[in-house]
Amino acid sequence: MTNLILFGPPGSGKGTQAAKMIEKYGLVHISTGDLFRYEMGNNTPLGLEAKSYMAKGELVPDSVTIGMLRNKVDAHPDAGGFIFDGFPRTIPQAEALDALLDDKGSSIHALIALQCDDEEIVQRIKKRGETSGRPDDNDEHIIRTRIQVYKNETTPVFDFYDAQGKSHSIVGIGEIEEIFGRISAVVDQLQAK
Ligand code: AMP
Repeated sequence: MTNLILFGPPGSGKGTQAAKMIEKYGLVHISTGDLFRYEMGNNTPLGLEAKSYMAKGELVPDSVTIGMLRNKVDAHPDAGGFIFDGFPRTIPQAEALDALLDDKGSSIHALIALQCDDEEIVQRIKKRGETSGRPDDNDEHIIRTRIQVYKNETTPVFDFYDAQGKSHSIVGIGEIEEIFGRISAVVDQLQAK
């Protein structure tokens, strides 16, 4: 089993790279942002709860997010591994993920962080906003809040896995294939062990 965390600020290309990783490595992709948008689109109680936080660019509370993630992992008992995209975003989420995988006799093998500077991110997200239909992609103030939330609340997760010797930094700027090559180098090395 190979369990990976695809990490990085909003707009760093996690979704794009995750799609390529699924194709190459056959892992199950779990994006908590996508799951929340699905719930919102269906007006479920979970979606309605998440909506107010997402609209402001803030994090949905850990209890809600962790419960949703756990259900999704449990729904794939035969998975050969997972790519976690946009999760964990806080230390309690990381601790919950480690505990969940530990219960299944598994663990996180690597966190791969895509590095990208703030202005590049803002431009990318604004461009994505032209077609994504996401309200949080169409307002520069909300985009900058999301970047700030990432810095304050999410970057400690890099250090959390770094302390376990699992964090890898990748330059997230360049051609999609070039970035994918950098990610693949990390994953291939992991799988060769
Ligand atoms: P994303 O699609 O990953 O950019 O996520 C969009 C929004 O969904 C975020 O700004 C948060 O409001 C919410 N969200 C996604 N993943 C998480 C998470 N792991 N913890 C808390 N909130 C999340």
